[in-house]
Amino acid sequence: MVAQHDAAALLLELAAAYVAASALTTAVSSVLRWVTAQWGVLFGVVQTRQSGPVFDRFTRQLEQKLRGLPAPDTAAVLEHARRARVLGVVQGFRETGVQVPAAWLTHPERISAERMLADLEHAGVPHQVVVEARKAVDRSTRSRLSWGRSEALDRIERAAKQVHDLDEATLHQVMEAMASAQSASRLLEATAKAVVVKQLNEGILAAATAVGARVFWVAEADACRWCASAAGTFPGPDGVFRMRGFGARGPAPYRLNAAGEKIPLRVPPAHNHCRCRLGIWRARRPPGPDDLPTRLRHEASARFLNPNAVPTEPAFQPTPASQLLTLVATRSRSRRGRTVPGHVVERARRTLRASIRRRTGR
Ligand SMILES: [Zn+2]
Repeated sequence: MVAQHDAAALLLELAAAYVAASALTTAVSSVLRWVTAQWGVLFGVVQTRQSGPVFDRFTRQLEQKLRGLPAPDTAAVLEHARRARVLGVVQGFRETGVQVPAAWLTHPERISAERMLADLEHAGVPHQVVVEARKAVDRSTRSRLSWGRSEALDRIERAAKQVHDLDEATLHQVMEAMASAQSASRLLEATAKAVVVKQLNEGILAAATAVGARVFWVAEADACRWCASAAGTFPGPDGVFRMRGFGARGPAPYRLNAAGEKIPLRVPPAHNHCRCRLGIWRARRPPGPDDLPTRLRHEASARFLNPNAVPTEPAFQPTPASQLLTLVATRSRSRRGRTVPGHVVERARRTLRASIRRRTGR
């Protein structure tokens, strides 16, 4: 179930990143191609430093092209953020037992937010909560998006200014002067993704709060050391999650608001490109050894601290987090291409073998 949720959220995340940055990315790469082609026509040789009237005309044209790059479209990203919020509410309610149309869990990007809300009410979700979902995007998300927009515009302006200031340069140096324009589209993508993950989790939190349930941290399968250390944990009484980082050096990752202040970690993401999500704990009792939060904690520590803590009962159901163990035990590379150290793989294998022997008596 968790994996299905992740796929639906991932679609929204990718769609948001696309609408946030694709126009700019395409335009920037077209400018880059123009630069290379034009340099060839005007100067022929790539390596040599150029200056003089022809070079000045070239940089003036380039500067104009940079200033003419399309402005980021935050409205389209906001719509995706809104859908993510609704998807989170839907997923949250599904986890607490409400039946929702399964079809649009798999294709949330094709269904308007209005339609989702109507379906939700039809599925019997209390009106008050539908109204809550309708609020959709909170202030901090709006200000984060507008921060991303103005930062991207600043970076484009910085590139234009650096090109303007070139009196003489090689092709390589011209490209370097444009680097901040390229980083602008990466920034827009990262911002859009972070906003979608945050809104998804705000939605899950809203659903949990509505039924008086608690939430716990579900680290993504390939989570960083900090996020993994929060796996299966509950927030403190103040609603804020704490990350120990398994002895990681340096400060825990955190996000800043538009004013540059630290945002308390109430929902994922903990950082850019974080795809963690909240899980819902409905029971009044604390989680037992076979419950998901406990298993997530064990799996995370198996990955970073102690392979002997791996839960290997025959009844163990695979979850995205348990795939992590499979990953460590069967492959030397994670799906993002990070290398899992050989001794970790070997220890995980030994633990698995020993536990199977213990269970089966063979
Ligand atoms: Zn994370």
